[in-house]
Amino acid sequence: MPEASAHIIEVLPIGGPEKPLAYAVPARLKGCTAPGALVRVPLLNRSRLGLVCEGLSEEIDPARLKFVHDALYDEPVVSPDLLKLALWLSRYYAASLESVLETIVPAPVRAIMAPRTTRLLALAHTPTPEEMDALVRRAPRQADLVRFLEQQQGPVPRSLLMSRLKLSSPSCDALVKKGLLKEVVQEDAREVYTDDLGEEEALPTKEVTLTEEQAAALADIELSLDANEFRPHLIHGVTGSGKTEIYLRALERVVDEGGSVIFLVPEVALTPQTVGRLRSRLSKRGERVVVWHSHLSAGERADGWMAMARGEARVVVGARSAIFAPLKNLKLIIVDEEHEPAYKQAESPRYHGRDVAVYRSMLCGAVCLLGSATPALESLYNVETKSYRLNRLSKRVDDRQLPSVHIVDMKRERLSPQGAATISSILADKLLERFEKQEQSILFLNRRGYSTRMICPDCSYVAECPHCSVTLTYHRTDNRLKCHICGYQERPTKGCPKCGSAKYRGIGFGTQRIEETVQKIVPRARIMRLDTDTMSKKHLFRKILSDFRTGKLDILVGTQMLAKGLDFPNVTLVGMVDADIALHVPDFRAAERTFQLLVQVAGRAGRGDKAGEVVVQTFMPHSPPIQYARRADFEGFLQEELEQRREFHYPPFRHLVRHLFRGRNPEKVAFFAEQWSRQLEERLEKLGHNVEIRGPVAAPLEKIKDTYRFHLWYFVGNVSRILPDIVALRKDFPMDEDVVDVLDVDPVDL
Ligand code: ADP
Ligand code: ZN
Ligand code: ZN
Repeated sequence: MPEASAHIIEVLPIGGPEKPLAYAVPARLKGCTAPGALVRVPLLNRSRLGLVCEGLSEEIDPARLKFVHDALYDEPVVSPDLLKLALWLSRYYAASLESVLETIVPAPVRAIMAPRTTRLLALAHTPTPEEMDALVRRAPRQADLVRFLEQQQGPVPRSLLMSRLKLSSPSCDALVKKGLLKEVVQEDAREVYTDDLGEEEALPTKEVTLTEEQAAALADIELSLDANEFRPHLIHGVTGSGKTEIYLRALERVVDEGGSVIFLVPEVALTPQTVGRLRSRLSKRGERVVVWHSHLSAGERADGWMAMARGEARVVVGARSAIFAPLKNLKLIIVDEEHEPAYKQAESPRYHGRDVAVYRSMLCGAVCLLGSATPALESLYNVETKSYRLNRLSKRVDDRQLPSVHIVDMKRERLSPQGAATISSILADKLLERFEKQEQSILFLNRRGYSTRMICPDCSYVAECPHCSVTLTYHRTDNRLKCHICGYQERPTKGCPKCGSAKYRGIGFGTQRIEETVQKIVPRARIMRLDTDTMSKKHLFRKILSDFRTGKLDILVGTQMLAKGLDFPNVTLVGMVDADIALHVPDFRAAERTFQLLVQVAGRAGRGDKAGEVVVQTFMPHSPPIQYARRADFEGFLQEELEQRREFHYPPFRHLVRHLFRGRNPEKVAFFAEQWSRQLEERLEKLGHNVEIRGPVAAPLEKIKDTYRFHLWYFVGNVSRILPDIVALRKDFPMDEDVVDVLDVDPVDL
């Protein structure tokens, strides 16, 4: 038992109880257990990984203390700001501390706890017959061991020998002492860090002179860096205005001064150019960049993480989880395309990368740059209410023209003969014209409309998934109807399954269909498709992009994910095939998304010396987002949209919390959601909270994989004040065991 004077620490077990426990530190580990260190501790007869924290537990009974088993590294790896961030995250997003810690300390880092060396035994020499005789007489087990080793080609793990031949540790040692066996210590094979950026295109970096607007924005950011304190900047700059150049300059300055930087992008695979630019700039300085994304192997992940924790790497670029990078002396956090819904995590902890970035900047007194051509309404609103600095870049570099935008009313439009109800004659003419001038074009489809459905025009039958409330998508390649949610598939029937009509057929704009249609319009053009299929093959994706860049392709057809950050100088025409679909979804952000999408898509045209053109096809030409986007009138859109949001208490005026209930039995799910809602309203009122509760109603996707879903909406002024009470009330609510519920704070995709 540890003595009363023993050094005592508090440890938060990862994957254990939600509160810190006290442990004693053995003398050999003194100095390795400061707050933020990772240690192994005994808990419930198992050895568990835990995080050392400070002053959290209340009472310590020295008589019951156990010793820390081991410390993972010599020094703390989770900095105090990360520790605070974890606690905040768990409260704000109503997530278990366990899930938060698992996010912050990734699995491969936790796995390093396994022993890194193996002790092996091998024969020191082939025993002489005399030696063998003596052994057989005096110690038959040891003789077995020697014979066994004689049959083996090389050394054998000591633990294996002991268990196979039932030998004790001392008898192994005895044989070593006798000089018959020798011990070999083997370093376990570990995957090593490979610099993934090496695969990216090495982009030439020409020194540029900043434009006036860029210089002004950078000067303002430098003031914040000088002040060395928390300060968020919103860099609102049209596409091609040189935002990335500003990020890189600020980043270089911070690195030169010995600080570290987190650079978040919505998805690493989609931003090879940004990553490539960052790399070539930093390699000149001999700085190592850690790239953090989902394709890393466990070894790469562990090594990159440790390089940051040890201070060997000071810059990380990555998707949302890079916000938890264990960097020391963090001075700058950059969030590119800050409006992107991809920053929100869909599983617990359901955090928003941008919002966590702002909070972490605050915790460590760093400057935070949020950049976008189409900032989120929340961020624009924060400029007014939370005094974010606003840096505007209204012009493209070199004063290149913003593209001219044509809105095509598809209700009136004469469709091109080959257009098959999808491509207007204006768009067809322009595609042909570009091809003849040897310029390139991109066609975008809206992700949500990217499907072909089987529809019967006579009885309106639509093929739906029997397990989910979605229509099935027709895939021509294998002639199957597939559900994109649960994977169900079937072969389409010849006629309509309901009325037998022969007119039953596929309708819609799949990327495949569009590709075929465009090929008929411009028969000689080299066309490629970028969609979820090609995206999943990393090398194919890169090859298509590089072929397009080098002019081996004329036209790209893709879903809206293409709109992210691509920069092709020879693209002079961009077509938006179906601008409306985002307007039909039941999401209060539909108008905002449509506006953002159109502005982003338009930004892909005319990035080089030639002026660009954009063609937007729509059945709702007069809807506000389309009109404001056509004029690139940000201010107008913002004011009108804010007015609407204010009226209906939507964000940014309130926070939304979505409470989802799901289960196999729809009546039961609805009943418990209803019960809970009633109780909650009453209790919250008693506690003096001002919360508006709407619902329960069936979720837009009411059925997924035979599970029924209902949700409630809480319109909340201050999440941190109210959510803990909701969580506490929920713990006491007798929920049916067949019903599962989930809280999602600040949801982005409704
Ligand atoms: P954004 O991030 O706003 O879309 P980028 O920083 O990617 O803009 O700049 C667009 C293009 O213009 C890039 O190819 C970049 O190298 C180039 N560029 C940026 N700033 C300048 C400048 N001051 N002078 C000349 N070219 C520039
Ligand atoms: Zn399904
Ligand atoms: Zn029918």
